[in-house]
Order: sequence, then C-alpha cells, then structure tokens
Amino acid sequence: MEQTAANLTDTHQRVIRYLRISVTDRCNLRCRYCMPPEGVPDLRHEDILRYEELLRCARVAVGLGIHKVRITGGEPLVRKGLVSFIGALADMGGIRDLALTTNGLLLRPYAADLKAAGLQRVNISLDTLRRDRYTHITRRDALPAVLDGITAAREAGLEPVKINVVVMRGVNDDEVIDFARLTLADPLIVRFIELMPMGAGEWNGGDDFLPGEEVLARLRSAFTLRKSDDGSDPARADRLYRLAGAAGQIGIIAPLSHHFCRLCNRLRITPDGCLRTCLFSETETDLKPVLRGGGSDEDLAALFRRSVREKPTGHGRIAGAWQKCCTNMSRLGG
Ligand code: SAM
Ligand code: SF4
Ligand code: SF4
Repeated sequence: MEQTAANLTDTHQRVIRYLRISVTDRCNLRCRYCMPPEGVPDLRHEDILRYEELLRCARVAVGLGIHKVRITGGEPLVRKGLVSFIGALADMGGIRDLALTTNGLLLRPYAADLKAAGLQRVNISLDTLRRDRYTHITRRDALPAVLDGITAAREAGLEPVKINVVVMRGVNDDEVIDFARLTLADPLIVRFIELMPMGAGEWNGGDDFLPGEEVLARLRSAFTLRKSDDGSDPARADRLYRLAGAAGQIGIIAPLSHHFCRLCNRLRITPDGCLRTCLFSETETDLKPVLRGGGSDEDLAALFRRSVREKPTGHGRIAGAWQKCCTNMSRLGG
C-alpha cells in the first residue's frame, strides 16, 4: 500500500483517496426515496460553504492525497456558478478523476460548458424509462429532459456516462432487463443500486428493497453475463459485468447486502461544511469554525486527519434489521 506522510489513513489502514463534495441540499426533483413531496427544510444560506471555502477544502484534501473528486448534492446543477467552480477544481491540479453526479435535468444547457471547464465524466440518476413512472418516482414530469441530458452528456464527451438505477421491488424492478439492454449498442455503464433507508425518504419498512444478488440473478436468467472488472480499482463500489458482445457495462452496487466497507476510501463534505467519513454514521466534523474563524490550512488538514482516524469500520447494517440513517441523502450526496 502506498504510504506517504501526506496520506489520510484510518485506523483500519484504509487510505482515503476519494472526496465527494455536496455543493447544495436544494433539488429540482422530489424522488420518493430521497425526500417528501414538499422537500426537506433548506439549510440556511449563510451555513452553506461559499465556493472559495469549498476550493480551500479541496486544495487541503488534495495535499493530503485525495486524487478523485465527485461533485454531488442535492442537485449540483441548480447551484449558480457550478461550471466556474468545476473549472477552478480542474485548474487546481492534483485531481486525476473529476466527476459529477446529477439527475440530468439540466445537462442539456450545461454539458458542453462542464466539459470545457475540465469535468471528465458524469453519473446520471435514472430509475425508469417510462414517463408516467418517472413522474411517480420523482414527482416531476421530466423524463424527456433527462433523456436529452444523457444525449447531451455523450455529445459533449463526458464519458463513460454512468446511469445509476435505484432498484425498487414492485416499483421499477420489471425494467432491469430493459436497462441492461441499453448497454448492448451504447457504451453506457448502467449501475443497479440497492435502495437505502435514508433520512426523510420513503422506505416502507424495507418492502421495496431488492438485494443486488436478486438483480444479478434476473440478469443471468436473461443474458450471458461476464465479469468485466479489471481489478484496477479495488475500492470501487460496483461489481462490473458485460453482456456478450455489448458496447457498455453493467454494475451492481449493493451497499446494504454486500457492502464494501473494508475497502472504502471515501470521505464526504456536506454543503454546510461538515466532514463525514461514513454515509451511515451520524458522526461529523464541522469545518466551519476553522474555515471562518481564521484557522490555517494546517488546522484544516489536522481536522481532516482527525476525522479520518475516527472513520467507522462500516455500517454493520444487516438485511432484515434495518436502521434508518437520520441524515437526508440530499445533504450527503449519495
Ligand atoms: N441529485 C443528484 C442525483 O440524483 O443524481 C445527486 C444527489 S443524489 C442524493 C445521489 C444519488 O443518491 C442518486 O443516484 C440517488 O438515486 C441516490 N439516492 C438518493 N436516495 C437514495 C436512497 N434512499 N437509496 C439509494 N440511493 C439513493
Ligand atoms: Fe434530488 Fe437526487 Fe434526491 Fe432525487 S435523489 S430528490 S434528484 S437529490
Ligand atoms: Fe464506506 Fe461507510 Fe459506505 Fe461502508 S457504509 S462503504 S464505510 S461510507
């Protein structure tokens, strides 16, 4: 394992390389599993980090060995000035992989500018290919705009485009095969993700939960599936497969039933400036007192190191013994 003085290493010898920055808790959709129809109470404007503050955090993190950064939210594209922020991150140097997670609704107007600013790729969340169902799940009639956003991302060269599908029993699980077929002709990576019990999102006592293994079994009953993971990134969240002759790939992300905590190399910053070392642990370190109280970059780095040292081993959640995470996904960014 690579070890330098600058490394962020936790007590389980996991080296943290990956920072997810949630730039806003606001969103233009209302996905059922993420928030209620009325949305969640907005963070106070003054609590949200300014872009300069986020850039400072990113610079310190890169100095500590972070080389992969993902921008998320809420919906990151609803925050004004995002393209310039991404440009500043790209220009900073040291980030080898700069990506964005989005619901895709605003990609048509922004994709080309994002690419020009230095964004490398996008993950687009899309749980159904049926318009009425999309409206049901997200509470907005936006499927045509999202599909056009996917086209825009590919035209702009934000590739490989990954499509994130949260699979829910009795809601969209009958579309697993249709989604997999998309990878035959197009070089898309379609990733099936397990539903998680998060904050104010709907959970229905776990009735809608469908384990990744079941998705895999359904795929195997319809296609010949080959493992296509090249093993180059052991910390990746998805297990990768390819259908025979397909241009694209299929991923299975099973955070609950097949969690990858042992290899987890990620760290999150919330829009209000809290460091979170595990999606499911409510423990956070507020960076604002140092950021806004005249602290130095070394003070900030010390907070990063201390927080990482306390990174939990994992979530320890077992299928059937669900425990809901109190924090809203729209603040954590997935
Ligand atoms: N708004 C953007 C989007 O939807 O892509 C970025 C933020 S969203 C919180 C990030 C990811 O979290 C999305 O892929 C979304 O589907 C996923 N997500 C939100 N709530 C979830 C839940 N309860 N279970 C599983 N995934 C969830
Ligand atoms: Fe918005 Fe993403 Fe949450 Fe859906 S999952 S409500 S798009 S933040
Ligand atoms: Fe990492 Fe926590 Fe998710 Fe496990 S549950 S993979 S430790 S963020």
